[in-house]
Amino acid sequence: MGLKVYISGKLVDKENAKISVFDHGFLYGDGVFEGIRAYNGKVFKMQEHIDRLYNSAAAIELAIPVSKEEYAAAIEETLRANDLKDAYIRAIVSRGIGLLGLNPRICENPEVVIITDSIALYPPELYENGLELVTVSTVRNHPNALDPRIKSLNYLNNILAKIEGLNAGVMEAIMLNTRGCVSECTGDNIFIVKDAELATPPRSAGILEGITRGVVMDLAREHGIPAAERDLTRYDLFTADECFLTGTAAEIIPVIKIDGRQVADGKPGPIVRRLLESFKKLTRG
Ligand code: PMP
Repeated sequence: MGLKVYISGKLVDKENAKISVFDHGFLYGDGVFEGIRAYNGKVFKMQEHIDRLYNSAAAIELAIPVSKEEYAAAIEETLRANDLKDAYIRAIVSRGIGLLGLNPRICENPEVVIITDSIALYPPELYENGLELVTVSTVRNHPNALDPRIKSLNYLNNILAKIEGLNAGVMEAIMLNTRGCVSECTGDNIFIVKDAELATPPRSAGILEGITRGVVMDLAREHGIPAAERDLTRYDLFTADECFLTGTAAEIIPVIKIDGRQVADGKPGPIVRRLLESFKKLTRG
């Protein structure tokens, strides 16, 4: 039995999971999405993801045609139909079919899509040995242009930064904002540890407020590790004791090199290891 995809109330075979080329999601990246995980049959932080999806939609004046409860139920239904317990879930709402002009008011029926799949885990060595990053010249979208808090289908800003990272031979790239402060990576938030204190860029740095980022802040509180949201510069990255990334897919990944410079002794530090262990317990019981 092949994979089933949810499209606006119907479960269809993967081969038939198609959206019109006139959908403004395709024509203009006009839509919103979420990346969610299920662990052992339970959707992790479902409410937080649903809330963020509806906030993203509200920010672009996109009315999702189903209630939050219906959306959550549709995610559960799609997981069941695919018999998935550990899964990566992609929830999408696109503006719907319109004309070739920009006008979103002409698009009448937003499409609600849910894709669930078995999760392709990052290689375990990455968690053991850490990741190498570079800072790139593509500046993170200014919040007054396209606020990074909106998880929109227009990810070109991130893709351009990702290309720079790939061209430099690394898997993730650090983006700075228009003030030159650190914002985030192309699909992950960033943290440093300095003098036994955690620090991560604040909302005002122009970031997507990651749900994993929030979980890590909670875990730090539980462990009695002080954690601050404050502006970070490249100086802070270069002089950090530890560095790591957080994201739904990546979970928590240690960083051991930035712009060719080793972070501290070049090995994942004790605090990131502790947080990773607690995160595993939280998600896998
Ligand atoms: N920043 C960006 C740009 C992202 O795309 C993601 C992944 N959704 C994150 C941060 C991490 O957010 P979360 O922990 O909610 O997955």
